[in-house]
Amino acid sequence: MSASAAPVLPATPPFAIRARLLTPLNADGATRYEPDAVIEVDASGRITSIEPWEAWTRVQHSSTGQAASTGQLIDLRPWVLLPGMVDLHVHLPQVPAAGFGAGLDLLTWLRRYIFPLEQAFDEATAERVAPRVFRAMAAAGTTTAVMYGAIWAPSLDASFRAAEAHGIRAVIGKVMMDELTYDDRLPRDRILETSLQQSADLCQRWHGRDNGRLRYAFTPRFAVSCSGDMLRESAALARSTGAYWQTHIAEDRGEIAEVARRFPDARDYLDVYDRAGALGERTILAHAIYLSDRELDRLVESGSRIAHCPESNLFLASGLMPLARYRRRGAMVGLGSDVAAGPALSLFEQMRIGFYAQNALHVTTDDPSAILDPLDWLRMGTLDGARMLGLDAEIGSLEVGKEADLIAVDAALTEPLPGVDVHHPVEFEGPDQPSDLMSRLMFRAHPEMVRGAWVRGRLLQR
Ligand SMILES: [Zn+2]
Repeated sequence: MSASAAPVLPATPPFAIRARLLTPLNADGATRYEPDAVIEVDASGRITSIEPWEAWTRVQHSSTGQAASTGQLIDLRPWVLLPGMVDLHVHLPQVPAAGFGAGLDLLTWLRRYIFPLEQAFDEATAERVAPRVFRAMAAAGTTTAVMYGAIWAPSLDASFRAAEAHGIRAVIGKVMMDELTYDDRLPRDRILETSLQQSADLCQRWHGRDNGRLRYAFTPRFAVSCSGDMLRESAALARSTGAYWQTHIAEDRGEIAEVARRFPDARDYLDVYDRAGALGERTILAHAIYLSDRELDRLVESGSRIAHCPESNLFLASGLMPLARYRRRGAMVGLGSDVAAGPALSLFEQMRIGFYAQNALHVTTDDPSAILDPLDWLRMGTLDGARMLGLDAEIGSLEVGKEADLIAVDAALTEPLPGVDVHHPVEFEGPDQPSDLMSRLMFRAHPEMVRGAWVRGRLLQR
């Protein structure tokens, strides 16, 4: 079966959708798969019921086929509903440069491609670029994104305004840099104070907006770019406001050597952030490829979160994260695209590349626990991502009581031979095993397969 005429998607709640459904569940690491289900979303955008079609028609709708609480029932079969993807690490101003700079190391790539691009990301550029970025994210299936901006405060206001209008769930922060920086407007001795003040003001304006859909993250770029004072003061602001704190760590050997040179008193890279009082449950550390056992144990003890960005790590030849070792030691890991060091916004692509990277590690270390099931990767890209943000009671899976952050995917586009399926060779129904279905979505992801994305039951423009 090919992509047929697209059904009209519900734009605002309440509504009910009939479709296949695949989701991780909060309890016990379980997965729910329904080959034919009805999901109901109420006027506030919350999921009020998920029932197999037969049960749903029997109980309350036998006479009319209409959803009692919602009015409209949209039939999206054979599309499959999944929770929206949670991208824990992406650079908003860098998206136009995605795919440039292959073969460079991190610090060279930053200087050659990225700093000039971010330097040009003023308010007018943000107004032009940010809405397009959010539409591209929705088209890729991402409903929550944790983003770095540039250093210019007005561009952050413009980015937040664009996110507010678009409907995506967004965590954004102004990049802070008072050492290695592209800030040519301020004298060096004014940068720290100005950056802290602007970040605090942005947090005050935007953190918690629209009932928590928009949030702020204090965002010192990394220890190469920041003084100890900037790390410490930004962490104090995050603590006092309840906002997130995000940075990069242990991405690249050149970067690690530079941090060791700049912070000779620290025991290791993590200790630079630890001494700044920056570790904790609202701290998101991107990459974290080269953590020692000591760093890993301290990171776990502090409750800090890791944004794993496998495609970026291979694009810049940064390295392979020993994911199985991290998970065994209790690390909390979600997925990030890290565009533009990662070339693609799609988390399905991150899952595929991450899987291959772990296979490569498995070959060299012979660690059987290195192999994760496709359903584990789905969980990492959705519910675990929500958990990293402390939002797993609200989003990350399709369960009654949660907010309706979901996507509709046309899995037929992932078929190797359209219309011929191993399980149903005569009439295509799609893979009937959830792990097979997820495997197709990971390994044969199609750029057009995400047909709709909703946050709180509101359809996102794409
Ligand atoms: Zn990054």
